[in-house]
Amino acid sequence: MFIDEYVSAVLPIRGKILLVDDQVVNIKILHQLLNDDYDIHMARDGVQAIDMCKKIQPDIILLDIEMPTLSGFDVCERLKADPLTQDVVIIFVTGHFDEEKEVKGFQLGAVDFIHKPINPVITKARIKNQFTLKCQSDLLRKIALLDGLTGVANRRKFEESYPQSWLYCVRAKQPISIIMLDIDYFKRYNDHYGHSQGDTCLRSVAQAISSRVNRPYDLVARFGGEEFICVLPDTDYDGALFVTQQIVDSIIALKIPHQGSDVMAFVTISAGLASVNPSQDMDLQTLVETADKQLYRAKENGRNRVEAINMDSIL
Ligand SMILES: [Mg+2]
Repeated sequence: MFIDEYVSAVLPIRGKILLVDDQVVNIKILHQLLNDDYDIHMARDGVQAIDMCKKIQPDIILLDIEMPTLSGFDVCERLKADPLTQDVVIIFVTGHFDEEKEVKGFQLGAVDFIHKPINPVITKARIKNQFTLKCQSDLLRKIALLDGLTGVANRRKFEESYPQSWLYCVRAKQPISIIMLDIDYFKRYNDHYGHSQGDTCLRSVAQAISSRVNRPYDLVARFGGEEFICVLPDTDYDGALFVTQQIVDSIIALKIPHQGSDVMAFVTISAGLASVNPSQDMDLQTLVETADKQLYRAKENGRNRVEAINMDSIL
């Protein structure tokens, strides 16, 4: 995904709000007030609220404190402890002003308090402010994990998401594959055509790789200068080998002229692939190092090619 698409993808047109209150009348009042500007979801108790929060991933929760079984504080604590829901913005709604309770609410991670009976103007303004802040911080976070030049993920994003993909595959008993890619004779390309054209070349190559590696959990990241890495969870050796060969072929198909290349008159790429059925006692760095060694072999063996290894067959 590229930066413009990213920006429009992370800036929702309408925010999602979850209203949680054990009194129907309170939900009704807030629903009427906010329904024109937000998508509204509702829950009548704490358990339902936590369930819905995981399912619909709201931007903001308006959370009643005084509820039977699970109080608003309990709900807040659980949401903040779960990685899946920890980023939701929580605003407490309470029947009476109590300084001690407000202190506790902020300590638990809430961002604001609204007092009943609801004042429509104040309530709307507070929610709008919090929604704007949430959109901005979501956007900044996403941009911080993008490579500014090519629009694919950056190395930091790879470092953050690879361990999660690995863990997922260990738990789900699924294979995982890593592809390391390096543009052939890229230094010569820059020397011959200049850095500005070098940047354009990097962008085209990144786009071609992304178009081949595009399932929701796949990741393409710029690893270094002209080096890219792909993480393919849930993908076995045969599947990954097919994708890797497609990437190598798609770079030739771009037909970007490259006078300085010893391979052919166009830009080409070398690829190293490693696949494994991961287990708890394996080091996740080994897979990356193995893919990197395969990339090195691809360079040694003439470039513009795939070298691959299925680690299950050697372990
Ligand atoms: Mg209540």
